[in-house]
Amino acid sequence: MSRLHVPLGDVPSEVRCAKPSCSVASHARLQRHHKAHAKMWFGIWAKRRRGEEKFARFIERYNQFLPVDVVLICDRHHAEIHSIYDKIIANDCTAQTGIPLSKYSWVQAERLMGKLIEACDKWLQKETPGMDSETFGNTRKVYQSILRKEARKRQKRSRMA
Ligand SMILES: [Zn+2]
Ligand SMILES: [Zn+2]
Repeated sequence: MSRLHVPLGDVPSEVRCAKPSCSVASHARLQRHHKAHAKMWFGIWAKRRRGEEKFARFIERYNQFLPVDVVLICDRHHAEIHSIYDKIIANDCTAQTGIPLSKYSWVQAERLMGKLIEACDKWLQKETPGMDSETFGNTRKVYQSILRKEARKRQKRSRMA
């Protein structure tokens, strides 16, 4: 999750969380959420795509925090959308592609990012309770352990092959 880096003055102080009926306001308490969760790939691809022109541009775009890419939401809603993302990402690796994220092609990554954006846009229409950071930490552990287990299974399979 990225913290809000908007310098004071860039965002009107009366701005509210983008979720319907959420009363959290003021830019000091909101975070800029990248709908595509592009930052996830920075670490995953750090070695494999280092020096790639496309990867450099991808990072550059993230750092611009373009209004079309981001939405301002509060902490609780930020935790909630990322717990939804974890589920989609875990499912994508296990059911859809069957490969670890580090092996994803650009096409596969872009398709997954498209799914995240779509899920976020749908979620933004609905009133939801949000999630505290402890609950989020717990759900995150569940999905990370699913991904780790899958990775171990694949390693075993490739050793046997
Ligand atoms: Zn986020
Ligand atoms: Zn909110």
